[in-house]
Amino acid sequence: MNKKLHFFQSIHFKIALVFALLLLITFQIVGAYFVQQLKKDNVKTFKQQVELSSYIDNSLIDNLARSNTKKANSNIRDILEDIDSSNVTEVQVVDTKGTIRGDSDVNNQGIVGQKTTNSDIKQVLYNERSYAKSTYDRSDNKPYYVSITPLFSASGNTNTLVGAVYLRASLESVYDSIHKVTVIFVTAALIATVFGLMLAILISRAITRPIDDMKKQTSRIAQGDYSGQVKVYGTDELGQLAQAVNNLSVRVEEAQESSEAEQRRLDSVLSHMSDGVIATDRRGNVIIMNETASEDLNIDPDVADGQSVLDILNIRGRYTLRDLLENQDEIVIDLSDDEHEQILNAYFSLIQRESGFISGLVCVLHDVTEQQRIDRERREFVSNVSHELRTPLTSMRSYIEALSDGAWKDAKVAPHFIKVTQDETERMIRMINDLLSLSRMDSGTSKLELELVNLNELYNYILDRFDMMLKTDDDDARNAKHYTIKRDFTRRELWVEIDTDKFMQVVDNIMNNAIKYSPDGGVITCRLLETHNHVILSISDQGLGIPKKDVAHIFDRFFRVDKARSRAQGGTGLGLAISKEVIEMHGGKIWVDSVEGKGSTFYISLPYEEYEGDLWDEN
Ligand code: ADP
Repeated sequence: MNKKLHFFQSIHFKIALVFALLLLITFQIVGAYFVQQLKKDNVKTFKQQVELSSYIDNSLIDNLARSNTKKANSNIRDILEDIDSSNVTEVQVVDTKGTIRGDSDVNNQGIVGQKTTNSDIKQVLYNERSYAKSTYDRSDNKPYYVSITPLFSASGNTNTLVGAVYLRASLESVYDSIHKVTVIFVTAALIATVFGLMLAILISRAITRPIDDMKKQTSRIAQGDYSGQVKVYGTDELGQLAQAVNNLSVRVEEAQESSEAEQRRLDSVLSHMSDGVIATDRRGNVIIMNETASEDLNIDPDVADGQSVLDILNIRGRYTLRDLLENQDEIVIDLSDDEHEQILNAYFSLIQRESGFISGLVCVLHDVTEQQRIDRERREFVSNVSHELRTPLTSMRSYIEALSDGAWKDAKVAPHFIKVTQDETERMIRMINDLLSLSRMDSGTSKLELELVNLNELYNYILDRFDMMLKTDDDDARNAKHYTIKRDFTRRELWVEIDTDKFMQVVDNIMNNAIKYSPDGGVITCRLLETHNHVILSISDQGLGIPKKDVAHIFDRFFRVDKARSRAQGGTGLGLAISKEVIEMHGGKIWVDSVEGKGSTFYISLPYEEYEGDLWDEN
């Protein structure tokens, strides 16, 4: 279609050629016929003109019949001299014996009395029949007409041959006039052909231009450009065709637009779906894949295009395409590896035409990793809670059994036993309280009571309390740990909106951990600094540190690096989990940096917005 049309293949050329050929052939036929006819008529007229009149003939017959040859020849000569015809070049009179009796040529009188050598004359005398021919004289290159007529004298009923008249006339004038006419005719024909050709070119241009326009427009339509319009030159068939092409262009554009709009709608639906969608042809090869599916399966849609859905989902071997077509149940696809977990549920349905013909498959992928994780965590949580409660309860039961078995009377062990049950009870209450507050945060019922607080002041206040504890501990508890708190604060006042009680709980918990998991005499460094839009609070200890593999789990519920040790120190394993929830409710982040055996640093970052001007100074 895009191939350039060769000029000689174009309708334009063909029409012009046909026109020209038609004209030429017509002129050829008409011309040939006309010239032929003209020639015939002219020659006929010429013959009539040059033929000797019957009067002359009779005179000649009379003289040929005379016995006085001399007188007769003289008479014949006079008669011949009187012949007045410009075209007649020679008239010869021959008697029956073949003797030339007279010649019109004045310079050729010598031949009179001689026998003729002309075989044609002899033939006429012999046959007694007239003879005529057109010849071409090579000596002077001119056409001639030769006529030999036998002469008869009528006596009574019989005609006696007395001789013959040989007449030679130049045909040049006849041929000249025919030639002139032919030249005029050919010239006229050529001029007419040239005009005809020009006309043909004009007409064929008029026909081919709209066709050419339509050709261009249809190629543009094919390339998706609907902007052009074919010019409609008239109301004839071509005009109607042009109009039809214009209508077609509008229709195609509308259809294209609506199918594009449909496509866009489909694309936007697919790309906004939280579930992955894969559509295949009836051989199970992928033809559409939305972004979610591509992310879930970690495969580029372009790469997936045309591949079998069995390979894409990595279920070849487990299922065949027939299984998927016949039995559209849900399939669980586990894509988990060492690093991350991913479980998808795949639901299949058929793309079927009204006739029942199956033209493909649609697979909807639903990521159930999170759901499975939540289910598992819930199960783990219930088992953790039961376990956490059973351990203290079992130990309490044994102490209480011992007491009821008589140990209560033993003044040495009884107070210790009672103290243990009291501690365990308290730990359980603490755990239950922790669980309750976690559950409140989970369900969203726990609300923050935000107030604008000077963080430097609040942090100092909390740390002061730990310093105080150190002093009081020093006084009454001998086994209490020693530690030093180092403060490294920014000088700027950092005002942030926080729920003071909950925030204090978080810092308390981290401080307590720092003390709990540090050896005696450690230094705890507390820092406070701000970045462009965050405040960062950190607490570093010189304690046990956290093994690398556990760092990621440190904020999980009930997670403890060393369960026995934590429990012995009254830990519930929920402190950091609660801290994380609280900080996240504030829109902040909590994380840890730790080197096992060297110490850990806990960081809390909170969103911070610097107030323009000093709000409080102005008041
Ligand atoms: P717990 O009540 O057991 O202290 P947390 O949630 O506060 O519970 O802490 C979870 C676990 O994290 C602890 O059991 C401990 O193993 C580890 N951990 C927390 N803080 C530190 C720290 N500063 N140094 C070392 N390990 C720590």
